[in-house]
Amino acid sequence: LASIGIDVGGTKIGGVVLEGETIGSRNRVNTDNGTSDSVIDGLIGVAEKMTAEVQSKGLQIESIGIGVAGFIDFQRGSVTESPNLPLVDLPLRDIMEKRFETTVVVDNDANAAALGEALLGAGKGSDYVVHLTLGTGIGGGIVIGGRLLRGCVGTAGEPGHMVICEEGPRCTCGGRGCLEAMAGGWAITARVRELSRKGVASPMLEEFRKDPERFSARNIGMHADGGDRFALSILKDAGRHLGVGIASLVNIFNPDVVTLSGGLMGSFEHMRESMLISFEAQSIAASRKSVQIVASTLGDDAGPVGAALLPSAPGLIQRIE
Ligand SMILES: [Zn+2]
Repeated sequence: LASIGIDVGGTKIGGVVLEGETIGSRNRVNTDNGTSDSVIDGLIGVAEKMTAEVQSKGLQIESIGIGVAGFIDFQRGSVTESPNLPLVDLPLRDIMEKRFETTVVVDNDANAAALGEALLGAGKGSDYVVHLTLGTGIGGGIVIGGRLLRGCVGTAGEPGHMVICEEGPRCTCGGRGCLEAMAGGWAITARVRELSRKGVASPMLEEFRKDPERFSARNIGMHADGGDRFALSILKDAGRHLGVGIASLVNIFNPDVVTLSGGLMGSFEHMRESMLISFEAQSIAASRKSVQIVASTLGDDAGPVGAALLPSAPGLIQRIE
């Protein structure tokens, strides 16, 4: 038996075939973001390729799990909406079950990545795992005893929208001062824009002014590596906010492990020290002593691997009837 897991993101659709706990093969295409149909066609293409690979090995497909960047109605298996994909009220589970005649489970991409990291990545062997994806935004999930904490309508586990500073900058969710608005990739890039407006001069600001549109958090990391003091200060602040966020999560969930992944991990060495200082200051001693904060071991595979595990790992709570 083999299960297929597919991660549908704004730029890439990545799939894996999972044979037991082993990745049998991988498949990746760029997302054609034009229309809902073009996204579905890309997804079906990846699923068909993986199905053919499984069958050529003489194996049977047990299920297909799909993680989608967006808000998911887990009960109905549909995508309510997505900030990065042109999908609205799309009954994705039904479409895929009809097409592939197998069990299909659809969930949020960050939940899927959390499940993958908890069961087969850096959280393997731990019962209480909090996972954070530090990218343009900040996503994540909470896995307890191998089960995702989904909440009553499936929207639990949004650590990026945990409030760090109630009078902080406006967030994409409509709130203020969320962890994502303080330490996410888009938020720290916005700090550079503010500095530019103030007329600050440094190698980083010089690069920013040449092409503000293409300047991203990755550029901040590169300038921090080069010693730019503004880049270092922005990442130090982001690390401090991240430490506060992790402390809150540790105080609430008392996890064995907090796993970190995502593009910002490339700059993590510039955030680590300030993160640890604020984490120490804000966390409950007993919980702090029992937790490890570690980097993801699955990396880009966490999303598709976790998606493949979705059908066999039910949620902790969906709705208590
Ligand atoms: Zn928010």
